[in-house]
Amino acid sequence: KPVLAIVGRPNVGKSTIFNRIVGERISIVEDIPGVTRDRIYSSAEWLTHDFNIIDTGGIDIGDEPFLEQIRQQAEIAIDEADVIVFLVNGREGVTSADEEVAKILYKAKKPVVLGVNKIDNPEMRQMIYDFYSLGFGEPFPISGSHGLGLGDLLDEAAKNFPNHDENQYDDDVIKFSLIGRPNVGKSSLVNAILGEDRVIVSNVAGTTRDAIDSQLKYNGDEYVIIDTAGMRKKGKVYETTEKYSVLRALRAIERSDVVLIVLDGEEGIIEQDKRIAGYAHQAGRAVIIVVNKWDAVEKDEKTMKKFEQNIRDHFQFLDYAPIVFLSALTKKRIHTLIPMVNIASENHMMRVETNVLNDVIMDAVAMNPTPTDKGRRLRIYYATQVAIKPPTFVVFVNDPELLHFSYERFLENRIRDAFGFEGTPIKIIARERK
Ligand code: GDP
Repeated sequence: KPVLAIVGRPNVGKSTIFNRIVGERISIVEDIPGVTRDRIYSSAEWLTHDFNIIDTGGIDIGDEPFLEQIRQQAEIAIDEADVIVFLVNGREGVTSADEEVAKILYKAKKPVVLGVNKIDNPEMRQMIYDFYSLGFGEPFPISGSHGLGLGDLLDEAAKNFPNHDENQYDDDVIKFSLIGRPNVGKSSLVNAILGEDRVIVSNVAGTTRDAIDSQLKYNGDEYVIIDTAGMRKKGKVYETTEKYSVLRALRAIERSDVVLIVLDGEEGIIEQDKRIAGYAHQAGRAVIIVVNKWDAVEKDEKTMKKFEQNIRDHFQFLDYAPIVFLSALTKKRIHTLIPMVNIASENHMMRVETNVLNDVIMDAVAMNPTPTDKGRRLRIYYATQVAIKPPTFVVFVNDPELLHFSYERFLENRIRDAFGFEGTPIKIIARERK
């Protein structure tokens, strides 16, 4: 998908515009305990265009001086985006900080669309003329708070969307990525996988950006390891900027079928690991939890069980994800990874038969009666699988509000017991049938 980034000095309204463009998408994200929501990156749609959008203003650069922060945010946008929306504040005219941003953007060979925000009514339109001087052509008047002018701005931006497809691989190629905070051993693991006896590395495909995916074959099946751009290219802003590394992780997750969440067995689990895992879950990807550096852990017969319990406690929303303890250094259990990716991917694409599904649901209801609320009982009429990747089920009921989280969870567990689905999230959507 094309990527659009919003840049501009603080307080010009970047997050407001971001939220407008993203629309209700962010608020409909499921509320999962333990999953941190972030508003710096989202998918969005405009007419027929499906794209991703970044609010660079949300990327926390730390304690750098003001201008340095703006510079780094602009550079992130230049690195990541196909089209940049340069946002200014129409009510304040051109400021020196705007000019600084402009200077950085001149050097980038990326299309820039200039949006003049806070033009809340037609009488204010003449305020845009000041901004021609920034040298990015026609300024587009918009109002984030009133939602005005965004259509024209996005039309212009979409003209510059490249028509390349980043997911250029065939459907039968399984795409997976290794995600985790810096230094957990992602690059070491990629190298260990590629160096395995039975893995044939076909070639290295450079995509349009600087990501380098590795294509490989194992037992006759084809795979691609999606590069977490930066896995190999270190030292830039991303190393020190947590949100930027999250951004890169998000991009890789989006392109993957299966996400390997890499933890550091020596250091244990920290908050950042949870965020990253939450993203993979929310994106509906299959997930495997990989505990690396297991060689460096001093252990007795209980260590692994304890670590596993710790993972289950911290990542309750990932209860379907298998866990593997291994070492990129000694290569121990590296050979189990691709077979695990295979299983997770198969389950991610599994379709079940409608009649069997309904038998399972009816048995579940017989075993554990549906909940009542204010004297009304939930009635389940019928269920059907409507999608794969991840498997998604629509359950037709008398009133969706009566399907409480705990009962939904119960149904999910019954479905899992009946069909497996190890390694993949599943979704249950309640629909009213009149
Ligand atoms: P990345 O930032 O996640 O890509 O991490 P790297 O692959 O660069 O690894 C970070 C550090 O951890 C390096 O010093 C590696 O040598 C070390 N490392 C990686 N895997 C292992 C492992 O399985 N065991 C041990 N003991 N060290 C590891």
